[in-house]
Parts: sequence; C-alpha cells; structure tokens
Amino acid sequence: MERWYPIIDYAQCSGCMQCYNFCPHGVFEIGPDGKPKVTHPENCVEFCKGCGKICDRKAITFFGDKKGGK
Ligand code: SF4
Ligand code: SF4
Repeated sequence: MERWYPIIDYAQCSGCMQCYNFCPHGVFEIGPDGKPKVTHPENCVEFCKGCGKICDRKAITFFGDKKGGK
C-alpha cells in the first residue's frame, strides 16, 4: 500500500505541467484532458513535497500528510 502520494485538486490545477516536469520518479502521466494524472503513486518518495512546493496554484496535497500542509 502506498502511504504517500500527491493528490491534485483539478478545480485549482491550470495544467501548467510544472509538477510533471519536476518529478523525476514517473509518478505522473499526462491525462486525456492535458492535465497531469497520478498514475504511479507507488513511485512517490515518502515525505517528498517537491511537486507541491513548485505548484503555484497550490493544487497539490499529499495523501499521508496528517497536517495537510503544503
Ligand atoms: S504544478 Fe499545479 S497547476 Fe501545474 S499542472 Fe501540476 S497540479 Fe496543475
Ligand atoms: S512528492 Fe516528490 S516524488 Fe512524489 S510526485 Fe511529487 S515530486 Fe515526485
């Protein structure tokens, strides 16, 4: 079971793909709507918040983040 992975709020996401371009672990793929999709949550590095920090829409939160912070 994955304990840590990003969750994208598509109401906030602009589709800028910064998160997709930033993450070196292949967690995201491009969805049919042109926005990133979390297709490989198992590749995400526990406690990494890199993609969330660079998202200027603050559209990414993390499953497993008890504080819910960004
Ligand atoms: S960085 Fe944020 S706004 Fe840009 S595609 Fe990713 S989730 Fe969407
Ligand atoms: S939290 Fe880190 S490893 Fe996980 S998707 Fe974002 S940048 Fe990639």
